[in-house]
Amino acid sequence: DEVRQQRTQRLESLGQLAGGVAHDFNNLLAVILNYAEFIVEDGADTPMALDAEQILRAGRRGSELTHQLLAFARREVIRPKPLDVNRVVDEVQQMLTRSIGEHIDLATDLAEPLPSVVADAGQLEQVLVNLAVNARDAMPAGGHLSIDTGLVDVGEEHTATREGLQPGLYVRIRVSDTGTGMPREVIDQAFEPFFTTKPSGEGTGLGLATVYGIVVQAGGTVYIYSEPGVGTTITILLPASDADPRPADPTRVARPPGRG
Ligand code: ADP
Repeated sequence: DEVRQQRTQRLESLGQLAGGVAHDFNNLLAVILNYAEFIVEDGADTPMALDAEQILRAGRRGSELTHQLLAFARREVIRPKPLDVNRVVDEVQQMLTRSIGEHIDLATDLAEPLPSVVADAGQLEQVLVNLAVNARDAMPAGGHLSIDTGLVDVGEEHTATREGLQPGLYVRIRVSDTGTGMPREVIDQAFEPFFTTKPSGEGTGLGLATVYGIVVQAGGTVYIYSEPGVGTTITILLPASDADPRPADPTRVARPPGRG
């Protein structure tokens, strides 16, 4: 429990710091990108314009990273409400299919009906996208990604082993891949902000830290089960709510996934 509390506090202060820096840096980057665009436009196909295109490319990548940082810092307003997890999975399925590419197939197995969970729909989508992107990165040669949902009764006898969870009903979301898997030392650090095994410029190390922050804030927990060479299963438990799920806000647009 203490580990969990320390982790959450560290996440919060890191989030504030990262969010502040990311916000200011992003404004500067916007100016840099703007001027690089002028050079590209004015220079037609001159060598200078081609160089400026490189600035644009790297700058856009930098901008994507700062957006991930901002998402991690949870600067956006969050609106928790009763949600049907299955509908959220349905809604992002198309976007997930696009972000994982054609060499990976996505299958879902949704338990119906499920009680609702109280969470922010955009954040829950972010969780699914982050996990799908990790699964994709773990399966460069292709494979299977599956998402399934279910209901779990966490009894008194289990709460000791479940990181201080209150006993009760939980909605389970499981995201499994047939990828590289993770050795013990990677599992142990995977939720740490900025921990990544990906080449520099490709991973931010914020994907799982963001997932952790969102799920814990919603009163739930996340587990990693992974076997090197076999695959990884990420299990999320969110407290079941008695409230009826509210329909998703039709004007809300899901954030496109980052590439990192
Ligand atoms: P990033 O994806 O930017 O590296 P994450 O926090 O999402 O940051 O992940 C941290 C690390 O955990 C990854 O670099 C990778 O080593 C490992 N990891 C996460 N998800 C998976 C997965 N599905 N399969 C294998 N390794 C994973």
